[in-house]
Amino acid sequence: MSNKVKLLIGGEFVESRATEWRDVINPATQEVLAQVPMCTADEVALAVAAAKKAFPAWRATALAERARVFLRLQQLIRDHMDELAATLTSEQGKTLADAKGDVFRGLEVVEHACSIGTLQMGEFAENVAGGVDTYAIRQPLGVCAGITPFNFPAMIPLWMFPMACVCGNTFVLKPSEQDPLTPMKLAELAQKAGLPPGVLNVVHGGPESVNAICDHPDIKAISFVGSVNVGTHVYRRASEHGKRVQAMLGAKNHAVVMPDANKAQTLNAIAGAAFGAAGQRCMALSVAVLVGEAKQWIPEIVEKAKTLKVSAGVEPGADLGPLINRGAKARVEKLIAQGVEEGAKLELDGRHPDVPGYTAGNFVGPTVFSGVKPSMHIYKEEIFGPVLCLVEVDTLAEAIEFVNANPYGNGTAIFTQSGAAARTFQHDIDVGQVGINVPIPVPVPFFSFTGSRGSKLGDLGPYGKEVVRFFTQTKTVTSRWFDDETTAGKVNTTIALR
Ligand code: NAD
Repeated sequence: MSNKVKLLIGGEFVESRATEWRDVINPATQEVLAQVPMCTADEVALAVAAAKKAFPAWRATALAERARVFLRLQQLIRDHMDELAATLTSEQGKTLADAKGDVFRGLEVVEHACSIGTLQMGEFAENVAGGVDTYAIRQPLGVCAGITPFNFPAMIPLWMFPMACVCGNTFVLKPSEQDPLTPMKLAELAQKAGLPPGVLNVVHGGPESVNAICDHPDIKAISFVGSVNVGTHVYRRASEHGKRVQAMLGAKNHAVVMPDANKAQTLNAIAGAAFGAAGQRCMALSVAVLVGEAKQWIPEIVEKAKTLKVSAGVEPGADLGPLINRGAKARVEKLIAQGVEEGAKLELDGRHPDVPGYTAGNFVGPTVFSGVKPSMHIYKEEIFGPVLCLVEVDTLAEAIEFVNANPYGNGTAIFTQSGAAARTFQHDIDVGQVGINVPIPVPVPFFSFTGSRGSKLGDLGPYGKEVVRFFTQTKTVTSRWFDDETTAGKVNTTIALR
C-alpha cells in the first residue's frame, strides 16, 4: 500500500506534485515504510508564500499567546511519546530508549520556548542624555527555514521551529528525506497545539529543495544541521543571498582519559558514547586519548565494547541498532579496512555481526582500533559509525595539543578525579562543548549548543539565548518626550545628544 509523505503548506497536509519519489526504508529490515517526494523549487515557493502570508498576524500575536501554543505542544509530545519513538526507531534504526531520548531532548527545547516572555525581552537605559532614553527591542525576522539531518529526526527539527516560531517568525522546515515520518508527526502535533495555518510549513527532498530555500528572496534566516560539505555549500549559497545562516556541521570528538579517572564509570561512558546510536551522533565519541597508565586500559575498553548487543532498535536489550542505509554501512566497512591497511591495530572488528532475525539490516558492531595516527583515514574522517580510535600519549599537555590540532570543535571530554587537570583542560582545550566526566556534553536548552571551529559556520548556535538572537533583529529606539511647558531650546548641529 502506498504511503506518500505529505507536505504541510498553509495549514493543510497536501500531496506533493513531485515526479521523483524516494522510499523511506526501515534500516533494520529494509521494509519500505513510505515514499517521500523530492520537492521542486515550485513547491518550496508555495511553502514560503504560505509562511509569508501568515507572518503579519503571527508577528502581531501576543507573546503569551504564542507561548501557550508551545505549552500545548509540549504536552502533546509527552502524550505521544511512545508513538513518536516507535516511528523514529522504524525509520532511523536507533533503539526505542534512545529514540525516546531523541524526542525528549527536543521536548526540552519546546519547554524552553514557553519562557519566551523573558527570553525575548529587550534592554532599557534611562537618561542616556538629558531627558533621553534608549531601549532595544527584539523583533522577528519574517520567514525562516530549517534543514535537518537524518540522525536526530525529532530533536533537531525541535531545535528549530519552536524557537523560530515562538519569536514571532514563520517557518519552512525541510527534514532529512531519509526519515521524514517523525518530523511530520511533530508537525501534526504542532497543528493540533494551535499553531495557526502557515506558521509552520514542511517541504521534503534533497539538493533541489535545499537550493531553492537558499535562493528564495523571502527567506531571511536558515538554520542548517548536517555534514560539513553540504553545510558549507548551504552557508555560502544562502549568505550570498544576504541571509543569516547558522550551520552546525560534522565532528571528530575526543575524550582524554587520565590514569586517575574512575575506571568503571569511564569505561561505561566511553562505550555508551562511542557505540550508542551506532556512532551516528555529531557528539559521538570517536577518539579516546589515553594518557600515561590509562594506556593499559585497552583490553578493558575492548571487553566493555564486546558486551554491547547489536540488534534492531525494537528488540529488548539492544544497545545499538543499524546504520541508516546500505551506503553508510559500506562506507564504514571500507574505512575499517583502510584503518587496517594503514597500520592501525584492529582490536575488535564489528563488521558483519550476527544479528538473528535481521539478516538484511545495515548492522556494524562496536569496532575498536588502537595505535591510531593523525594521518590515517579512520582519524581524519568523521566515520559516523560505531568505531572507536584509541590514541596513546604521555601527558595531559600532549593530549590537549593533540585534540586542539584536530580541525573539528564540536565536543570533547576529560575523565579524571583531579580538579586541577579538569581546570587546565577546560581552559586550554579549543573545543566548543566540554564534558568533565560527562562523555556527551550537549547542553540543556537554557544554554546554547556551542560547537566551534570546523564544526560550525555562523556565530550563533541553536536553542538557548543565542537562538533568540539568531531568529530576531534588534531595533534600538532613542526617545525624548516634551511636555507642553517645554520652551524651544537652541538648534543642535552636532551629533551629540545633550
Ligand atoms: P547531510 O549533510 O547529508 O544532510 C543534511 C541535510 O542536507 C538533509 O536535509 C539533506 O536532505 C540535505 N542535503 C543532502 N545532500 C545535499 C546536497 N548535495 N545539497 C543540498 N542539500 C543536501 O547530513 P546527514 O548525513 O543527514 O547527517 C549527518 C551529518 O550531520 C554528520 O556529519 C553529523 O556530524 C552532522 N550533524 C551535526 C550536528 C551538529 O549539531 N553539529 C548535529 C547532527 C548531525
